[in-house]
Amino acid sequence: MTDEHAFATRAIHVGQEFDPGTGAIIPPVYFTSTFVQESIGGLRGGYEYARAANPTRTSLQVQLASLEGGAHAFSFASGLAAEDALLRSVLKPGDHILMGNDVYGGTHRLVNRLFVPWGIALSTVDITDLAAVRAAMRPGVTKMLWIETPSNPLMKISDIRALSTLAHEFGAIAVVDNTFASPYLQQPLALGADVVTHSTTKYLGGHSDVLGGALVLDDDALAEAVGFHQFAAGAVSGPMDAWLTTRGIKTLAVRMDRHCANAQVIAEALVGHPRLEAVHYPGLADHPGHDIATRQMSGFGGMLSFAVAGGAAAAKRVAESTTLFQLAESLGGVESLIGYPTEMTHASVQGTALEVPDNLVRLSVGIEDCTDLLADILQALDRT
Ligand SMILES: *Cc1c(COP(=O)(O)O)cnc(C)c1O
Repeated sequence: MTDEHAFATRAIHVGQEFDPGTGAIIPPVYFTSTFVQESIGGLRGGYEYARAANPTRTSLQVQLASLEGGAHAFSFASGLAAEDALLRSVLKPGDHILMGNDVYGGTHRLVNRLFVPWGIALSTVDITDLAAVRAAMRPGVTKMLWIETPSNPLMKISDIRALSTLAHEFGAIAVVDNTFASPYLQQPLALGADVVTHSTTKYLGGHSDVLGGALVLDDDALAEAVGFHQFAAGAVSGPMDAWLTTRGIKTLAVRMDRHCANAQVIAEALVGHPRLEAVHYPGLADHPGHDIATRQMSGFGGMLSFAVAGGAAAAKRVAESTTLFQLAESLGGVESLIGYPTEMTHASVQGTALEVPDNLVRLSVGIEDCTDLLADILQALDRT
């Protein structure tokens, strides 16, 4: 299977060759910790010990590399484990990392609480403002620019190509957390980014049944460093997790099409609703990032948020009043979820520059019937 095939074809076939021994169309899941050697050091297929490599994980990594258009992919036990391996591979004490001021709260917490005490400098900036990003870069010291677009929960869009060019001007690498878009809608490496990170827990896995993370990149030297961290620190995905993720990815294209279509219908239906102050969805023509999103994405995704007119109490009531949309953290599964970011996903950034408006409700729009989903939101709004 080569890269000349289209995305949906590669999602199903790359790294997923049938088992030559039996013809099993689904390659076996390798539940094994070690591999028998023919002689000392005589490895079969290069496999020695499962922290270093396991065929099920290899199959996922090959699939991920193909879908993001990168030379190397690494799969981890969670999105944050992947980020941790990348940060440790690139940064050393004295270096500076610049992040958007609306990055995933757990990403900010990881750097702020674990890396800053080890001597890494962190600052945050409105990453949609290129002049502000330029002013916040520290020549020779900033080694990483962390980009998350669309961002959470305000769905802000930043320009991956422009930001990557800017990072390179300062000798920094540009990292894109591509969790919200998935490689189906956005290909950061092709836009000039150096590394893509994922929480595969979300759209890639797609069924809310597995935790995982990934890094995809082109540079061979950086790949060697990341591969060494994956092996030496050992936060790898286990075979069952890797296999569930692989299986989820096979339907990514059809799922994302439906996520996008459903979210667009719901966003448009909510615009102008008397109980709402604002609807944040990049697929709306008046969203501030709509033009950039149209340029760098092939669809606007399944995530949206809205600000409730009645303030925090009303927003919480909406989040607790839906029946199909279930009240839970996380996103990207086939089932719709609703959340109150202030006290759920963004509780860890309360009181910081990353704090989000307390009248905001976030939706992860699933792939159920759209009429049912919209009716559920509208009845919940009626209760405010
Ligand atoms: C969930 C998430 C993460 C963290 O991933 P885990 O798999 O929960 O460790 C990172 N970035 C974004 C955008 C996320 O949504």
